[in-house]
Amino acid sequence: MMPPSEATRSVLHIDLDALVANYRLLVSLLSGSRCGAVVKADAYGLGAEKISVALAAAGCEDFFVASVDEGIALRRHLPAKRIFVLDGVDSGDAREAAARGLIPVLNHRAQVEAWMRATASPGAIHLDTGMTRLGLSAADIDSMIASGALDRVRPQLLLSHLACSEDAAQTMNQAQRLAFVRVLDRLAPIQASLANSSGIFLGTDFHFDLVRPGAALYGINPTPNAPNPMRQVVQLKGKIVQLRDVDSPRTVGYGATHRLNGTARIATISVGYADGYLRALSNQGSGHIGNVRVPVVGRISMDLTTLDVTAAPLAACQPGEFIELIGPRNPVDDVAAEAGTIAYELLTRLGPRLARVYEGG
Ligand SMILES: *Cc1c(COP(=O)(O)O)cnc(C)c1O
Repeated sequence: MMPPSEATRSVLHIDLDALVANYRLLVSLLSGSRCGAVVKADAYGLGAEKISVALAAAGCEDFFVASVDEGIALRRHLPAKRIFVLDGVDSGDAREAAARGLIPVLNHRAQVEAWMRATASPGAIHLDTGMTRLGLSAADIDSMIASGALDRVRPQLLLSHLACSEDAAQTMNQAQRLAFVRVLDRLAPIQASLANSSGIFLGTDFHFDLVRPGAALYGINPTPNAPNPMRQVVQLKGKIVQLRDVDSPRTVGYGATHRLNGTARIATISVGYADGYLRALSNQGSGHIGNVRVPVVGRISMDLTTLDVTAAPLAACQPGEFIELIGPRNPVDDVAAEAGTIAYELLTRLGPRLARVYEGG
């Protein structure tokens, strides 16, 4: 990746030490379970290679991606770790997945059959306990036990996914856990995995053999009703390209949606919605210059964003200086809330045009 330089438009700093600290914090909550890592969607936009290699160095043995393509790409960097493919395989890619030593999560009968035709390697199987998205029903699994199909698959992991884990008060969490245990008892001995990031915080009953955090590793709050126990991993800094002093009434940006009535100072930064700084942050978002909060004014454009920096020291607003848009003072969850979305979407939209700079690790 390009190092930050005079030519850099804007920078996405990714703190690998914070990532590893988050991994260790999650590990410290477990007793006897393993902690995997979900690195689908290019590790939630942060770069699957760098993130996965750092986590592997910290002791992570089990990685989860969405697709076979993601698994093939990751295999080049992790020759000896378990890589699970959450979307599973079909008859078109099962052989390739087997050749790369990927472990598909088999979600329905046709995937089970495609995998058995391709290889004798064991897969994982997904039990749907309430998401109604991917996964076999308990009845499907019963009939696979009866027909002997399950014996031939020799699954090495039973997986299910929680629908409401970020809300510990939801009775659905226990209901899903019980549905999971009922099927698990019939398949034992087999490894089991139920918890995503928030599921880890529901307690050891939810941990089983392997937990599968994604969000919490990347600094997203897994307990939205309580303070965030995770460290921020991402810092997005927009470079000021122009500073504009205004002394008479005028409007800012497309649609003239923000009106300046007196004197003001407007900084234009080279970050826009094409970089994943969501257009919904128009007139809603804010950045920081030092400790001074500077609001986004007017609509966010494709490549540019305007902020009212009147309150900030003049020297810190000059072209070439940076405004923090995501970071310690602008946590990912808060920025996402300002945009009316969740931090998962904010991170996965951060665009390829941002220079990704890795620190620590
Ligand atoms: C994305 C995903 C995860 C990770 O969830 P987080 O909330 O990011 O921790 C775990 N399991 C499955 C099946 C997923 O799709």
